[in-house]
Amino acid sequence: MLDMAGLRADTPGCENHVFLDSAGSSLPPRAVVDATIAHLRREAEIGGYRAANERIDDLYAVKTAIGELINADPAALALSDSASRSWSDFFYSVPLAPGDRILISGAEYGSNAIAALQRSRQTGAVVEAIPSDSSGQLDLDALSAMMDERVKLVSLVHVPTNGGLVNPVAEATRIAHRSGALVLLDACQSAGQLPLDVAALNVDALSATGRKWLRGPRGTGFLYVRPELALSLEPGRLDQHSAEWTAPDDYVLSPDAGRFEFWEYSVAARLGLGAAVRYLLDLGPAAVYAAIAERAEYLRKALSEIPGVDVRDRGIQHAGIVSFTLDGLEPVRVRDRLAAESITVTVSHRSSTLLDMSARELNSVVRASPHCFVSFEDLDRFAGAVRALG
Ligand SMILES: *Cc1c(COP(=O)(O)O)cnc(C)c1O
Repeated sequence: MLDMAGLRADTPGCENHVFLDSAGSSLPPRAVVDATIAHLRREAEIGGYRAANERIDDLYAVKTAIGELINADPAALALSDSASRSWSDFFYSVPLAPGDRILISGAEYGSNAIAALQRSRQTGAVVEAIPSDSSGQLDLDALSAMMDERVKLVSLVHVPTNGGLVNPVAEATRIAHRSGALVLLDACQSAGQLPLDVAALNVDALSATGRKWLRGPRGTGFLYVRPELALSLEPGRLDQHSAEWTAPDDYVLSPDAGRFEFWEYSVAARLGLGAAVRYLLDLGPAAVYAAIAERAEYLRKALSEIPGVDVRDRGIQHAGIVSFTLDGLEPVRVRDRLAAESITVTVSHRSSTLLDMSARELNSVVRASPHCFVSFEDLDRFAGAVRALG
């Protein structure tokens, strides 16, 4: 069981504020803000290099903590400044030739789809979308039927940005691997809100962001790459951290996932990310995941009882994102009217998940995403405010 009073005391931002945007950019716990700011102050005292040297062990511990959370070796992790950076660092390193096929998810995230289209134009590979089944999740039979040896990469979205479904990643990965394709998992909306075990899921690579369910600072993200695979890939851009200049005409790549990292980064933000993951591990991820699921289910039920509200979530297994529309009021207006009452939700627009939203003829949906620090009183206040808008 989580200590709600402690959780809320650790989260100054949730006082007198119903915060429902952990799928966008969550409220960090005090420990994260403190770690980040303390480091910026230390840099101002002794300079960035000495300040970083003082924290060498803590900086390494960031990867240890993430590795513990997703069951990965720290050497299989590359830290970055966003999920999109990490996703594309991996994606652009996979060799593609004319006629190769890239499969993307029906709920693919916009940035990933744009990268896939760009590489298709550059290489002559083709991009195809895996259909969704009648429940809205990835259609495993359709995926099986699409697979052949020309499929080089399958991009799976664990939890889409625009709704609370959970895709069957382990099953889809098994199907993709039978034909020898690589599987890249976008875990941006699952890291920090669902159990993630790269060994159990057996994906080849995974990307996630720090600021969403992990409650880290903005400008943080990470990539996992299966160790043997990392050694066979050459990132599209290198620096003298991802590689070493060994002779006037030669260099060698870093011997692990570090080849996907540049030397320069925000040390303060990275220490903040480490504090965020450690905070989650200390709370107990299973208890946090259960609390998120319980709140999202509560919210779906409360919203579905309000006249004029359509809960738009699909899928069989549900995650912590609750999407809905309200008759007669545009989602951005719903968001703004709620903001005036100290209730934070956000809007997911068609272009973020173009295939899925177009198929459902939706331009945008309101997205409410409660983390474990949100109380049931908060949820009732939110539901009451939505009812009053209708
Ligand atoms: C937010 C999001 C991303 C992008 O994360 P950034 O850190 O902004 O790059 C990718 N995929 C999904 C599903 C997301 O929700």
